Amino acid sequence: MSMNDVNVDPAELKKFSDLAHRWWDPNGAFRPLHELNPVRMGWIERLVTLSDCSVLDVGCGGGILSEAMSSKGARVTGIDLAGKSLQVARLHALESGAKVEYRAVPVEELAQERPAQFDLITCMEMLEHVPDPARTIAACAQLVRPGGSVLFSTINRNAKSFLLAIVGAEYVLGLLPRGTHEYARFLRPSELARGARASGMEVSDLTGVRYNPLTQRFFLHHDTDVNYFMACRRPS
Ligand code: SAH
Repeated sequence: MSMNDVNVDPAELKKFSDLAHRWWDPNGAFRPLHELNPVRMGWIERLVTLSDCSVLDVGCGGGILSEAMSSKGARVTGIDLAGKSLQVARLHALESGAKVEYRAVPVEELAQERPAQFDLITCMEMLEHVPDPARTIAACAQLVRPGGSVLFSTINRNAKSFLLAIVGAEYVLGLLPRGTHEYARFLRPSELARGARASGMEVSDLTGVRYNPLTQRFFLHHDTDVNYFMACRRPS
């Protein structure tokens, strides 16, 4: 695959590289991901058994989710294209003792290299940063073994998500650095589901995630208008 073919927006990667030193600061730029982590871990563990599960974490960043899954006994490979984030992830794993393998490889390339090799793929808070999410979804579908699951999380696209996820989170509450998200890249659940089905998967779970700014907590909710999680399954 030539570099021109890579499904990546260099401006998006730069945003994450510039903040990479803050990945593990619980009160830094990635605080929402730290707060979201127990909620998504609860959801993941309801759907799959992580012990001895081979997992690919796509767009792993500093490894917040990768390490959490590894601590539950999963054999985790984390991939990202922001080299600085991977350096931070590797250093943190050295300190924490987490046995995660980190690689800077495009998911589409890994799909050629290791098709149907993983029991579980997680691709969280990442699709809204890539130019062609359908290709990312298709690559995830190729990487998971028949009968395995692909778990996505992203942000819905509508007036409410614009107000809450961009105006509210970036400008009013300052939860995220300004410019973190681009409205046009948000993905409706119907669009994600269509991409999943076009790649031969079926949707097995959909849940919304809400944030309470007073308690500063995320929680699962049937409302998928803003943040949501979608589980897909590759038929056996
Ligand atoms: N999944 C992690 C990090 C989410 S932040 C978590 O939820 O904790 C989004 C991540 O996607 C960043 O680390 C960014 O570098 C990565 N990313 C953006 N575009 C990418 C691409 N085309 N390929 C791989 N990773 C990408």
